[in-house]
Amino acid sequence: MAIKKVIIIGSGLGGLLTGCILSKEGYNVTVLEKNRQIGGCLQVFARKGCIFNTGLNYTEGLAEGQILYKYFKYIGIIDKLKLRRMDIDGFEIVTFNNEEYKFAQGHENFIETLVQKFPDERQTITKYVNDIKKISSEFPLYNLSTEQYQMAGWDSYEQSVSEYFDTLTENNILKNVLCGTSMLYAGLPKITPFYIHSLINHSFINSSWRLIDGSHHLAIELTKVIKSNGGIVLRNKEVKKLIFKDKKITSVETKEGEQFNTDIVISNIHPVNTLKMIEGNQVYSAYRNRVISLQNTIGMFTIYVVLKENTFEYQNYNHYCHNSSSVWSAENYFEKEWPDSYMLYTPATSKSEKYADSLIIMSYMSFKDVEKWENTWIEQRGEEYLEFKKQRAEKLLDVVENKFKNLRNSINCYYTSTPLTYRDYTGTPEGSSYGILKESKNLLKTIILPKTKIENLFFTGQNLNMHGILGVTISSVMTCAEIIGQEYLVNKIIESNAE
Ligand SMILES: Cc1cc2nc3c(=O)[nH]c(=O)nc-3n(C[C@H](O)[C@H](O)[C@H](O)COP(=O)(O)OP(=O)(O)OC[C@H]3O[C@@H](n4cnc5c(N)ncnc54)[C@H](O)[C@@H]3O)c2cc1C
Repeated sequence: MAIKKVIIIGSGLGGLLTGCILSKEGYNVTVLEKNRQIGGCLQVFARKGCIFNTGLNYTEGLAEGQILYKYFKYIGIIDKLKLRRMDIDGFEIVTFNNEEYKFAQGHENFIETLVQKFPDERQTITKYVNDIKKISSEFPLYNLSTEQYQMAGWDSYEQSVSEYFDTLTENNILKNVLCGTSMLYAGLPKITPFYIHSLINHSFINSSWRLIDGSHHLAIELTKVIKSNGGIVLRNKEVKKLIFKDKKITSVETKEGEQFNTDIVISNIHPVNTLKMIEGNQVYSAYRNRVISLQNTIGMFTIYVVLKENTFEYQNYNHYCHNSSSVWSAENYFEKEWPDSYMLYTPATSKSEKYADSLIIMSYMSFKDVEKWENTWIEQRGEEYLEFKKQRAEKLLDVVENKFKNLRNSINCYYTSTPLTYRDYTGTPEGSSYGILKESKNLLKTIILPKTKIENLFFTGQNLNMHGILGVTISSVMTCAEIIGQEYLVNKIIESNAE
C-alpha cells in the first residue's frame, strides 16, 4: 500500500503531537507553520538573557506512571524534558480575602492542607476531591482506556461549575478558594462545565511541573521525533486555501501560492480559521454558521518582567491573587475594576534555584479593550497602543505591589502582551487564551470533534477536547485514533509503557 501523505496545518502542541504519532505509524508527515518559530503557545521569546514562556507556565501528570508521563513516554520524549516538580505542599497559593490558601499535590495531601485552613470543612473538601476524582475516572483517554466517549450520556456533564459548588457547600470562602485557579480555564461559573474544572484540577493535584529554561524545548523535542520518522516541519508557511476535487482535499496552498499535495489534512488551528480556507459549498452553511457562532474564552494581558540580579527569590509555586469578593474575574468583566485578579509566577531556569531572573504576571483582558487597534500588526500598532499597554502594566503593578511590596525595586525592565499579540502570533480569534468556550448547557454544540464532514479533513488541538498540555495531548490522540483506530493506538501506548 502506498504511504499516505498527511499535511498538518500549524505546529502548536496539537499539530506536533499528531505529527509524532502518525509519523511513528509510517505516514508521510509535513507540518506547515505560519511563523518563524514553531510551537504556537509553546513559543518563547528572549530579552536581556531571560527566556519568557508565552503559553505554558506549568503542566501536570508527569510523575512516573501518571497520565501525561504515559503519553510522553510513548512519544519518546519523557527522558528528554528538563522538568522541575513544583512544591508538593503548595504548588498553588490562592490569595482571597487577603488570606493565603495552599493547594498541595496528592489528593490526601490536598485535603489535609486545606483542612488546616477550614477545620470544620473536612467532609466538604473530601467530597470535592472524591467528586473530581470520580469525574476524571470516567474519561477513557484520561485513564488510557480503549472505551469510546459516550456522547449520548453526557447529560451528567452538563452541570456548571456554580451549580456544583452551590450544592457542595454554603461556605462562600471555601467555594471561592476551590475555584481560585479558574484562570486555568478562563471559566465563567454559570457556563463552564464542572467536568472541565475537575479534569484540570484533578490532574494538577496529581502532580505539577515546570519546564526548565523555556517551554519551546517541548516543541523542539517533538519536532525531532517527527524528523527521525522521516517527516518534516516547515516554518514560514501560512496555509491560506484548501483545494478540493470530488469532495476531497487534494492539496493545500500557502500565502505565497505554494501547493502541497496530500491524502489527509489535519488542522491544528482554530476551526473558524480552517473553515475560512474552504471556498464554495464544500461544507454545509449550517455547520459553518454553528462553528462561527461559538464564543471563545477571554484573552490575557501579560507583563514579562526582567528582574535585577539576585533581588527576587525563585518561587516553586504559582500565585493566584483575587482582589474582590469573587474569584470569577472573567464574569461581568466590564463591570469590575481592572485588574480584578492576576496570576504571578517565576519561570524555572537552570541558572539558579534560589533567585528568579524573570517574573510573569497575567490578568484577563477582553478583546474589546484593544479592538480599536485590530487592523494593526505586531510592533506597528502606534504610540497610543504603547501608551495603553504602559498604563495597564502600571495599574497591574500597583495592584501586585499591594501583596509583593516594593516589587518595582526588583524590576530591571518589562515587556507586555495583549490579546492582539496572541491573535497575531498564534492566529487564535480575538486573541482568545484557550479557544472555544465550552458551555455546560450547550455541550454538544460547543465540543468540536476531530472528524469533519469532509472525508479527509480532521481537526486537532485545544478547540476539541480541551486546552492545556494534557488536554491537547488527548485531543491529538483522539484525532489520530480517527485515522488509525483508538483501540490500536491506546494499546500501543499501553505497551510502550510496559517496556
Ligand atoms: C497565556 C496562556 C497561558 C497558558 N498557560 C498554560 C499552562 O500553564 N499550562 C497548560 O497546560 N496550558 C497552558 N496554556 C494553554 C496551552 O498552551 C494551549 O492550550 C496549547 O498549547 C494549545 O495548543 P494547540 O496546538 O491547540 O494550538 P496553538 O498553540 O495555538 O498552535 C496553533 C499553531 O498554528 C499556527 N497557525 C495558525 N494559523 C496558521 C496557518 N494559516 N497556517 C499555518 N500555521 C498556522 C500558529 O502559528 C500556531 O503555531 C496557556 C495558554 C495561554 C494563552
